Amino acid sequence: MSEDVTPIRQQYLEIKRQYPHAILFFRLGDFYETFDQDAEITARELDIVLTSRNVAKGSRVPMAGIPYHAVENYLARLIEKGYHVAICEQVGDQPTRGLFPREVVRVVTPGTIIEPTLLKGDRNNYLAGLVIQDNHAGIAYVDITTGEFLATELTDGDAESALRAELIRLQPAEIILPEGIDLNHNLPGHITRWQAWRFESGRCQETLLRHFEVASLDGFGLRGKPLAIRAAGAILQYLQETQPAALRLLNRIATYTLNDFMVLDAATRRNLELTETIRSGSTEGSLLSVLDHTVTPMGKRMIRQWVSKPLLDIRAIQRRQERIAELLEDGMLRSELRAALRPLVDLERLTNRVVSGHATPRDLVSLRATLRLLPHIRQLIPSHLPHLSALLQNLYDCPEVLQLLEAAISDDPPATLQNSGVIRRGYSAELDSVIDSSAHAREWISQLEEVERQRTGIKTLKVGYNKVFGYYIEISRGAAHLAPAEYIRKQTLVNAERFITPEMKEYEALVLNAEDRIREIENRLFQQICQQIAKAAPQLLTSAATLAELDTLTSLAEAAAVGEYCRPQLTEDHTLDIRDGRHPVVERTLIGERFVPNDAVFETGEIVRIITGPNMSGKSTFLRQVALIVLMAQIGSFVPARQATIGLVDRIFTRIGAQDEIHAGQSTFMVEMVETANILHHATHRSLLILDEIGRGTSTYDGLSIAWSVVEYIHNHPRLRARTLFATHYHELTQLGDLLPGVRNYNVAVSESEGKVIFLHKIVPGGADRSYGIHVAQLAGLPQAVVQRAAEILRQLEASAGKAVRIDPLAARQIALFPETNPLLDELKKLDINNLSPIEALNKLYEWQRKF
Ligand code: ADP
Repeated sequence: MSEDVTPIRQQYLEIKRQYPHAILFFRLGDFYETFDQDAEITARELDIVLTSRNVAKGSRVPMAGIPYHAVENYLARLIEKGYHVAICEQVGDQPTRGLFPREVVRVVTPGTIIEPTLLKGDRNNYLAGLVIQDNHAGIAYVDITTGEFLATELTDGDAESALRAELIRLQPAEIILPEGIDLNHNLPGHITRWQAWRFESGRCQETLLRHFEVASLDGFGLRGKPLAIRAAGAILQYLQETQPAALRLLNRIATYTLNDFMVLDAATRRNLELTETIRSGSTEGSLLSVLDHTVTPMGKRMIRQWVSKPLLDIRAIQRRQERIAELLEDGMLRSELRAALRPLVDLERLTNRVVSGHATPRDLVSLRATLRLLPHIRQLIPSHLPHLSALLQNLYDCPEVLQLLEAAISDDPPATLQNSGVIRRGYSAELDSVIDSSAHAREWISQLEEVERQRTGIKTLKVGYNKVFGYYIEISRGAAHLAPAEYIRKQTLVNAERFITPEMKEYEALVLNAEDRIREIENRLFQQICQQIAKAAPQLLTSAATLAELDTLTSLAEAAAVGEYCRPQLTEDHTLDIRDGRHPVVERTLIGERFVPNDAVFETGEIVRIITGPNMSGKSTFLRQVALIVLMAQIGSFVPARQATIGLVDRIFTRIGAQDEIHAGQSTFMVEMVETANILHHATHRSLLILDEIGRGTSTYDGLSIAWSVVEYIHNHPRLRARTLFATHYHELTQLGDLLPGVRNYNVAVSESEGKVIFLHKIVPGGADRSYGIHVAQLAGLPQAVVQRAAEILRQLEASAGKAVRIDPLAARQIALFPETNPLLDELKKLDINNLSPIEALNKLYEWQRKF
């Protein structure tokens, strides 16, 4: 390092070297300063002024600073843009050799934020760690604001896609993964690549053992899960570097397996719009938005977790149902409970702030307010409701914590410990005596003017205060000669003289020192109080979870009441029996139109239900509605139907054509086939398959053949035979109903009068016989001439070819829809409809009209 750079520059460079990948916020007085390239980035991203600072004789470097009290706002913007920020504070009260010691106290990254203002209350902020090896994967995730820490290993089948599905469920804010690992897919969340050696087995195991102070990890269920251990160990090391205070919260890790929950792959989560819509990505319009009537942040996070993780255990589902039923019956109880829960603070995150030492005085006031409310909530639940009452066993009022808070924290303390007045009078004799003596000194000073006027007889004598001298006595110039001998002259003004006295200075010192002492004592007491409360953290967190559950159950009961849902019955067999089912979201969005309920009742032996019908008639809605009702049932929720019996489903698969994810370098058709392959490989006889328009992305014959053989495969393969809803516009497929015993045909009813077609949205038995595509073309506003001509062509085609084309199930490739002779037909056949724009189609029709 150069000899002539200033000491502070040297200090800066030393620290910066340890954090090359983060923007270093370097505390200088009331500012965090950034330098060099960091300053350029900061100035650009935050739109603040870029200045410069002298670092050596004649050498300046770029600098940009932000005031420390506004740091959260700036941090939020940098983190959002994907930067990491290392916060470097002054430590200690004394400069050594003219320089404050400084150190990085934390590195803020998207997965390690704790500031309530930067966090979203309604969702967890997960930091995930990944390890992938030989098509197996380990994943661990933590929310340092709630203390949740979980790990699992994915070893069956295609670990990478299971991993992706799990990440889609979790929506982590940040994912750490070893450098050099390449994943095919984009992962959700901010990616932080970290040195690969951090993920080494021995090192990770050691980190976990040391952190949990145990001799073996078996107790956590981590035995035989080396990849989970590596992922979890890497997370701990990452936190040690970025947010060491958070480690205190992590007093356990649990393992889970994906078999505990219904498996939903990434495409299915998206297609069913569980927590956000495909189109806007917002929660509005998702299943969650219909079910979420929660009133607390803890409840909001829990209902999001429930919706993302439907259960497989009938008893666990029924436990939720019982409680919802009790709440559904009693509308009064529901509204009272919601009113009582609404004012609660985020007890989970708040407790964790107390434990990690980040709580503010106001946090403790909120904690106190919340604890005061708990007995009332307990009282609200009548003892004759056994299932809800059982929940209360896990609601601790923590009276000793409440007592402490009542006694120790004043009613309306300042926001931070920088100001005094946090601790209530009467709590600490030591504090009170300092406050009293300072009050006495203040009193003495406030009376000084009066006392001294009387004593000296000088009417113009005044007591004042300024920053330079502190308290002083001022006497007008004319009377100055009357000043008593013990007055010490300090300053001469134009019209007055200013004096001090030693006694006055003593009282002044008492007042000023008392301020510091009071702050110091309050600080110490506050930390002690927090430590005291932290001892009750397990009970507080259990209560938080209970309140979250109460909120979530009440929310589901509210949704059931609002939507007139029924309680589904669950079985272990293959039943699918939904009467008058509705789509929970679409039924809410129809304006001026009634949603038409539909049955989905699978007969014994029915495996595949083929649904044909015109576009826009309601096929997709029906398919999704069945999937959503099954999913809701397994969440424990009631369902939008008159009645429903559902055999548990291990996975829901969806292959829905309309919204295709465009992967780089893959055609829509390729994506469709990859997803279909995934379904055929992984579905079991307990799965539910939702297939919409398979084979649409290719030419008619290819598509039809593929659709045909997919149905055959599902129907015939002994592992599969999964309940399947198959919507298609290939009417030829309805022949499968005659050929395969487990296939049933349904179609969407259409009423036709005076050439006008009305979609009834009713799914009825039998195959559809017309596609009504021309009707839709008309609805879409194609010119009348085109529509009429198209109808004419269709009539000709139908007349010449006949409607039904018999297909031998074993020779599906030899499909002939039309006789090969008509030149118009030849042209028509050659058309690549999928790559035809409406205007090109129109031109074609005009061309044919002229030609033929
Ligand atoms: P398809 O898949 O057959 O093209 P959709 O399922 O997308 O048709 O439905 C088209 C529109 O019809 C939906 O957006 C909705 O407004 C309406 N719709 C669908 N099902 C129903 C129903 N059961 N009752 C009332 N309207 C419905």
